Amino acid sequence: MKTAAQKQRWFGFYASATLFAFALSALLAATNAAPRKNHPDMLVPIVMYHHVGDWGKANSDWAPYVVKPQEFQRQLDWLVANQYHTITFQELLAYQSSNMRPPAHSVILTFDDGWAEDVDIAKNFLAPRGMRGVFFVYTGAVAQQDNGSGYVSWNQVRQLEEAGQEVQSHTVSHSPLDTLAPSRLQFEMINSRDEMQAHVGHPVEVLAYPFGRHDERVIQATRDAGYKLGIAADDEPVAVLPRREWGNFQVRRFKVGYGDGIDVFAARMAEHAQK
Ligand SMILES: [Zn+2]
Repeated sequence: MKTAAQKQRWFGFYASATLFAFALSALLAATNAAPRKNHPDMLVPIVMYHHVGDWGKANSDWAPYVVKPQEFQRQLDWLVANQYHTITFQELLAYQSSNMRPPAHSVILTFDDGWAEDVDIAKNFLAPRGMRGVFFVYTGAVAQQDNGSGYVSWNQVRQLEEAGQEVQSHTVSHSPLDTLAPSRLQFEMINSRDEMQAHVGHPVEVLAYPFGRHDERVIQATRDAGYKLGIAADDEPVAVLPRREWGNFQVRRFKVGYGDGIDVFAARMAEHAQK
């Protein structure tokens, strides 16, 4: 017997899966190319990470957001062994605007919140494999200088960019956007982008919704602010029914948690690649 909460989780799961399919079908529609059936290369799976560390077991609340270094390494090596290669959202947008399909076996690796450890993730894990990640940073947490706050400084944001990684917006204050007044919503989107653009060498056109929370009003505000992609999270309830033209603003990811083995990772990759 499922409890109401379990049912809701299941509903959330199916809703997520459906919305993911919608998001990617919209991406594909933009290429004017009919999807090839049973061709797993058609879709670009997007993986959501937060922390890489050994402390997930001791902090069970955080466990869904931490992967062990050995597991992370195994996941990246699995991607390499299976001929996956990383692309960034900027590259995805470039393919979209030139009506081209991303190459087969593309994957996007995302890292949320702008932790100072991102620099080590890029240097120790991604760079040795020639991989690029997308780091979603909220500007309110970015320190003016490296100060041990736990968050990246602007200097470290530039280091990430210079090392070939991509930094995009996760708002100013990491507040749930669907609870904010219109003027505050606009501030979160526009101010974070303008401040970030002063430090990175590319337009900031991708916004990850904090906690994945978004509704019709948030989607509209994201579009109005000039973003081209709105990135959701994993398994969160979605308050609105998907509309095809919103595909780029409900882009789904899947998250990997503490203790998820390579079998779980491979299954989620397959699920997100073949929808
Ligand atoms: Zn976040």
